[in-house]
Amino acid sequence: MKKRKDFLSYGKQSIDESDIAAVVETLQSPFLTQGPKVEQFERAVADYVGAKYAVAFANGTAALHGACFAAGISKDDEVITTPITFAATANAVLYCGGMPVFADIDATTYNLDPVAVRQKITSRTKAIMPVDFTGQPVDLDKMMQIAKEHNLVVIEDGAHSLGASYKGQKVGAQAHMTMFSFHPVKPITTGEGGIITTNSEDYYEKLKVFRSHGISKTPYSIEQGDWYYEMTDLGFNYRMNDIQAALGLSQLSKVDSFIARRREIASLYNKKLVNVPGVVVPKQLEETESGWHLYMIQLDERITGKTRREIFDEMRARNIGVHVHYIPVYWHPYYQSLGYEKGMCPIAEQWYERALTLPIFPQMTNEDVDDVVECLKSVLHPLK
Ligand SMILES: *Cc1c(COP(=O)(O)O)cnc(C)c1O
Repeated sequence: MKKRKDFLSYGKQSIDESDIAAVVETLQSPFLTQGPKVEQFERAVADYVGAKYAVAFANGTAALHGACFAAGISKDDEVITTPITFAATANAVLYCGGMPVFADIDATTYNLDPVAVRQKITSRTKAIMPVDFTGQPVDLDKMMQIAKEHNLVVIEDGAHSLGASYKGQKVGAQAHMTMFSFHPVKPITTGEGGIITTNSEDYYEKLKVFRSHGISKTPYSIEQGDWYYEMTDLGFNYRMNDIQAALGLSQLSKVDSFIARRREIASLYNKKLVNVPGVVVPKQLEETESGWHLYMIQLDERITGKTRREIFDEMRARNIGVHVHYIPVYWHPYYQSLGYEKGMCPIAEQWYERALTLPIFPQMTNEDVDDVVECLKSVLHPLK
């Protein structure tokens, strides 16, 4: 295959005129931050996923930090999570003084394995942070069952999975708290942004206080005068602003069409790649409907005769923006310096060595998909 003219990135936002109009309208309104749009966006996301409450944050990482705070994670508490995630998931635990504990993944779904989670539970375990990796929901029933038996909080990292379903229900209302990210490559975008959805009024109140310096205004102001407020916790300024929320509202109205297109692309890939020697296509469990944030294949070097690095470089040289998600979190120098050892999660590590992300985003055309497939085939099996 010849080189593509333009670089096809692995993921990209879809912004149209109605998104731009929504942002402009807010810029012309009296409120740029803490206005009506943030609350409308929170209500809309909560309704979309079927949760009682939502609290918007400046970004998904801040939202995870808030969730760990609300769950009461503090010094020496252990939180079980997956090594195959963006570092922010585990970092949120460290921000609160807790200790991330990495459990291995399931070889079929690449998601945190409930059996491995059970093996990592100690008297210090406070929470589980499963990630709906690539957009496929984790086995939420099993995670919630483990949590119930051991009195743990489940904080679901749904950065990839807005719009995905588990047993016919959208994710965002099953776990104690669920985080969604609105970074431009994620299912919908607010530029930067994140949110926690929850059914718990207690978490809801804590999240709101944490997001705004640890300050709460009610009920003291009634007794003390209108200027009065109290800082009750050491919070942060992690607020989303109205400009972001206006974009989010406009994007949310299109999320189902975005996901539908991602599903089409994924099934095209599946069809075209399932019989290519040396390629393993991703599997979906019957009870989950992925949002297909990422489309990831595994490569079998014994069959392809090429390393993942060679395949990656050759495809990049032809302007196909392949990627790899993610380096096991505890391999990063910072985690190594904390004493985490390589080899801890062998299935995750083996999977990582073989994984390759192919481009997928709503505005990708069928011709783009053909370019990726043709390029991969010609790199893998040049003589055929
Ligand atoms: C993107 C992402 C985050 C962090 O979200 P930001 O909005 O970029 O801070 C956390 N976890 C996972 C799995 C992600 O993909």
